[in-house]
Amino acid sequence: MIFNFMKKYQYFSSDDIRIVNNSVAVAEELVSNYYKLSATQLLHLNYDVKTLVDLSENEIVNDHFAQIIRYAEKTKNDLPDAPVKDFYKVCLQDHSIIKAMKKFKDLDLYAFAVYIVCHELIHIIRFRRFLQHFDAPSNEKMNEEVRVHVKTHEILSKVNIKKLGPVLEFYKNWRLATHEMNNA
Ligand SMILES: [Zn+2]
Repeated sequence: MIFNFMKKYQYFSSDDIRIVNNSVAVAEELVSNYYKLSATQLLHLNYDVKTLVDLSENEIVNDHFAQIIRYAEKTKNDLPDAPVKDFYKVCLQDHSIIKAMKKFKDLDLYAFAVYIVCHELIHIIRFRRFLQHFDAPSNEKMNEEVRVHVKTHEILSKVNIKKLGPVLEFYKNWRLATHEMNNA
């Protein structure tokens, strides 16, 4: 059974994972600088970025490059009536990203992943700052999607990242929702 599940999707190679990890680090730095977050504030965003190998079947989607899933987190040391903390899991969809790169040959994994992760981090910051509700109605989610794409573009257009041009071009023409948001 596990074997069938593993076979169903195309996973990042170990080289790809290394590249994506670098993209995550750069995206965190860019977004932190933009929003002037300290290391502690970044930590308090309480999120993690995972690739397909670390996703369960219900965290996998086929029509998005990533999705954010919100988990309610309660540590065992918390008092019974302590408020539940939210944890955001950014679920990168290897198979969708690989498929897009096969179709659009100009897309480079490093630059593409920087864009995707920046975009997701901006969403999370906006949830944390109550600028946007996680459970907004779908038309409001679409408006937010456009706002976050504009913000991502603003941040990335000021930096010098190799092969980022085709990625920005890709998103200019593709104002698609890059993910869905779900509660666990
Ligand atoms: Zn988005």
